[in-house]
Amino acid sequence: MTESVTEPRIAVLSEVVRNQIAAGEVIERPASVVRELLDNAVDAGATRITIDLEEGGMRLVRITDDGIGMGTADLGLAFEAHATSKLRKPEDLDHIASLGFRGEALASMASVSRAKIRSRPRGQDIGGEIVEEGGQRGRITPAGMPEGTIVEVRDLFFNTPARRRFLKREQTELARCMDVVQRAALAHPADESGAGGIGFTVNHGGRRAFDVEPTMDLAARIRRVFGAELAEELERVESQKGTTRIYGYVAPPRFARRDARRQMWFLNGRPLKDKVLMRILKDAYRGVLVHGLQPVGFLHLWLDPESVDVNVHPAKSEVRLRDERSLFGFLVNAIREAVMRTNMATPGESMIDSVRRREERSLQRETLPDPGPMGARGRVSEAWIPRSPGGASPGAGIGSAPAPWGGAATPAPQGGYEVRDVHGTAPPPSVEGEGSPEHADWHAVDDLRGPYLQVDRTYLIRALPDGFEIIDQHALHERLTFEELRKEVGDGKVEIQQLLTPELVDLTQAEVALVSEHAESLRRIGVHVEPFGEKTVAVHGIPVRIRRPDPEGIVRDIIDVIARTGKAPDAEDVLEEVLHRASCRSSIMAGDALDQSSIRALLERARAAGTDQTCPHARPTRVKFSLHELEKAFHRK
Ligand code: ADP
Ligand code: MG
Repeated sequence: MTESVTEPRIAVLSEVVRNQIAAGEVIERPASVVRELLDNAVDAGATRITIDLEEGGMRLVRITDDGIGMGTADLGLAFEAHATSKLRKPEDLDHIASLGFRGEALASMASVSRAKIRSRPRGQDIGGEIVEEGGQRGRITPAGMPEGTIVEVRDLFFNTPARRRFLKREQTELARCMDVVQRAALAHPADESGAGGIGFTVNHGGRRAFDVEPTMDLAARIRRVFGAELAEELERVESQKGTTRIYGYVAPPRFARRDARRQMWFLNGRPLKDKVLMRILKDAYRGVLVHGLQPVGFLHLWLDPESVDVNVHPAKSEVRLRDERSLFGFLVNAIREAVMRTNMATPGESMIDSVRRREERSLQRETLPDPGPMGARGRVSEAWIPRSPGGASPGAGIGSAPAPWGGAATPAPQGGYEVRDVHGTAPPPSVEGEGSPEHADWHAVDDLRGPYLQVDRTYLIRALPDGFEIIDQHALHERLTFEELRKEVGDGKVEIQQLLTPELVDLTQAEVALVSEHAESLRRIGVHVEPFGEKTVAVHGIPVRIRRPDPEGIVRDIIDVIARTGKAPDAEDVLEEVLHRASCRSSIMAGDALDQSSIRALLERARAAGTDQTCPHARPTRVKFSLHELEKAFHRK
């Protein structure tokens, strides 16, 4: 092959190709079209925005707004790449207050679709219209229309089949478009006085799919999008420091889910999916969230535009925060305070529901063998819930055990229950109807009063004025030990219990080095350990709080955590984990028989500790059944 010297191999790309390349970054699917057009409508000062979709947006996305509009001169430039009204000079990039600024959304879209803009500026009698198809621009023609702007994007990727093939089913694309609109709706709520909000309406295939009124505040919008069950349980976050302000809502930990779809951050009104902000929310739930789940929260963050760089991501969904560290602590604390206020109790209702579902499933599989009466470690919930006809007979449940309230019951090896008369002093209270004066008195005098029933040496059951609760003794004790230890460490006065003979633990040389390096900070958390030869350490003392000490286990746990995190054992996050593990080791294990007075002592400690609804690993410590739920379960209502 001969190469011509005069004809270069390099050529400057045509504008259409350049725009299609940009579209590759900015316009991925119909939902990205919706996002960019919504941004433009918001930037134009709209108060009502209507989104019409066909075939999940693949056939059509049309966005109508009542914003400031564009005159003919602007219409002629709107489809031009890098044409924007939102920036002029380089310095403007340092304090962007609009959602858009790159001037490439309309140009990108028009290079891969059949696009049309109609617009009538506020205060003018007539509007104009311009069409662009696959990058081929038409002329501006006059158009009669109300004030505002209508942008239509039809047949997305009609000229780029390779990209069209990446689109999913109509329902999937629609769901993504809805997600964008719902985030936008939550990004622009009305304030307390009902002002300043933007209304959104979505029609799909001509049918109304979603709408929020401009006057709805954030709480009302969350309720509209996610329903009353969630909205009712939200706690408000509100805090301010200098020009930094956060407000919004967080849900109790039990609403957490695998995906982050119910986690929304808005920075200066811009919906974001920013990793740092997601970390902050997760940190605020530390210790009350099941590992691997994403908390549910809707948070508006207001920062001085100078302290944010939004120009780091083509889709503008990530940002760079200046002074991230100090912001981090402030936000985590503000959110955590609200998280701790959420209702962390596990409602029995959800348990009843899940048992019902299980029953329904097992009814469908009637050919399976009868599960038989509960084994020694049978689940308490199965005993309490009415069983389907094919299940174990109700007689196997504790409800029919003789004198169930007379003492602590533990399962006999063959199932069924033996009732041990432990103290048997208090007269058995009956669970009475709501509003009974007798039980009101009973609880006014002493609301921790027993008797308590212990099941399977694991669960404690006690009557409440309006139902009963089941407590997981191990989970509760673990939570208490953890809280108490954490408080002592925080106050800098962990009581150390010196061991009469130090316990020797064999380790590797590297582990011994690790321990000696951190000996001082280990001391601060109540573990007194020193090297004892090359491959051994001696444990001299451990925190008094820790019952049934297992010094070797504690030391190995700590080494494990330090080695993994590379941090000192009293660094805050490491400390939490070390304390979790230590409290787990020390706790009353499932399997301890407890008498009435030790149960009572445990409940009193729980009351004093305050946060006792979940164990440090976020399993619930107690499940409450209200009379109302019992009535439902037994079909009395
Ligand atoms: P950017 O939003 O980054 O400026 P776009 O390509 O999205 O770039 O839009 C280009 C310009 O078109 C905007 O800067 C704005 O002046 C104008 N524009 C776009 N949509 C609207 C709208 N709905 N109402 C008024 N002006 C609009
Ligand atoms: Mg834009």
